[in-house]
Amino acid sequence: MNLILLGPPGCGKGTQSRRLEDKFGMVQLSTGDMLRAAVASGSEIGQKAKAVMEAGDLVSDEIVIGIIAERIDQPDAREGFILDGFPRTVAQAEALDGMLAEKELQLDGVVELAVDDAVLVDRVSGRYTCAKCGEGYHDRHKQPAKDGICDNCGGTEFSRRADDNAETVKSRLAAYYEQTAPIIPYYRDKGVYKTVDGMADIDDVTKQLEEVVGG
Ligand code: ADP
Ligand code: ADP
Ligand code: ZN
Repeated sequence: MNLILLGPPGCGKGTQSRRLEDKFGMVQLSTGDMLRAAVASGSEIGQKAKAVMEAGDLVSDEIVIGIIAERIDQPDAREGFILDGFPRTVAQAEALDGMLAEKELQLDGVVELAVDDAVLVDRVSGRYTCAKCGEGYHDRHKQPAKDGICDNCGGTEFSRRADDNAETVKSRLAAYYEQTAPIIPYYRDKGVYKTVDGMADIDDVTKQLEEVVGG
């Protein structure tokens, strides 16, 4: 099964992708994670992306499409994938269609997690992740069972993203509504678009998603 999880920053794409991975054996392909890895490694792509990401703007279609084209060719993606954070522009959606046609793959669903703006700012500002395994947490909504110890891997180091501050969130939301929201009609016209209530609690959103994608 090949899915796109769509929605504004903080809507829960990363959190839910990890759960769907576990449940359905698909692999999460997050362009945000790939770009952050490129920035951390100091590669040429990372150097180009760093300032753009810190400002909350979108990295060029050319760079992002190149990264995904390479990643989707890896053997694990053949078992099914969840695209998290891609496509983010109509040009990226069109490029993805080209890649899928070439590989004779199809999209089984494009699911939007709908969440109000005021809630998004709160979610993004309180977000942190386990430095070892990437499990996501939140200062108030999702804390580890044992203070300071990752539920998933026992790690004790956590990190926050450079772009997860209230100011950058505003630019990222603006980029979402201007550049990403237009892909919703694009997929609606193809008959693969679905939406779920991303305001519900984490387990409830997972249930809704399982119903929508698992049938
Ligand atoms: P969030 O999960 O909060 O929406 P991401 O981790 O998906 O954020 O993305 C972080 C940043 O990486 C974005 O603000 C943007 O600068 C860049 N980025 C990620 N995916 C894309 C993409 N498909 N196209 C352009 N830029 C991207
Ligand atoms: P995205 O990948 O779409 O940017 P995340 O999955 O990283 O979003 O979630 C953003 C923050 O909100 C994280 O701190 C996460 O723990 C928290 N979160 C995710 N889903 C929910 C939810 N349904 N209710 C409350 N908090 C949530
Ligand atoms: Zn961990």
